Amino acid sequence: MNQMPLTGRCFCGAIRFEVAGPEKYACFCYCESCQRAAGAPVVAWATYARDTFKVVSGEVHWHQSSPGVTRGICEHCGSCISYENEQRPGEIDITANCLDDPAAPVMRAHIWTEDKQPWMHIGDDLPVFEKNAG
Ligand SMILES: [Zn+2]
Ligand SMILES: [Zn+2]
Repeated sequence: MNQMPLTGRCFCGAIRFEVAGPEKYACFCYCESCQRAAGAPVVAWATYARDTFKVVSGEVHWHQSSPGVTRGICEHCGSCISYENEQRPGEIDITANCLDDPAAPVMRAHIWTEDKQPWMHIGDDLPVFEKNAG
């Protein structure tokens, strides 16, 4: 498949990055960590090859949010840009909404719905997983 360069940025624009699409996977995550990190009920993630991720400007603050998990954050505006897990070396998850075109990734599932807030309702037909996707 042809690689497609994608660009993105944090809320304040201090961090600009590139990654090569299309995504390997994309999903909505309702886990408590994502809720707290984003201050939002759900985060849309898209997974890319780690070696295609490039910080074009600014400096990413790498926050170890739980053992083996690193989240990339902008220290100026607090945007959560990325997620990496030692159990998936070679991959990086990007918050779809920090892409310049957040609609580019095709969402495939809802995961960690056991942490989902009761007032958050899923209105599509994508597969739903209480924990991680099978
Ligand atoms: Zn920022
Ligand atoms: Zn999550």
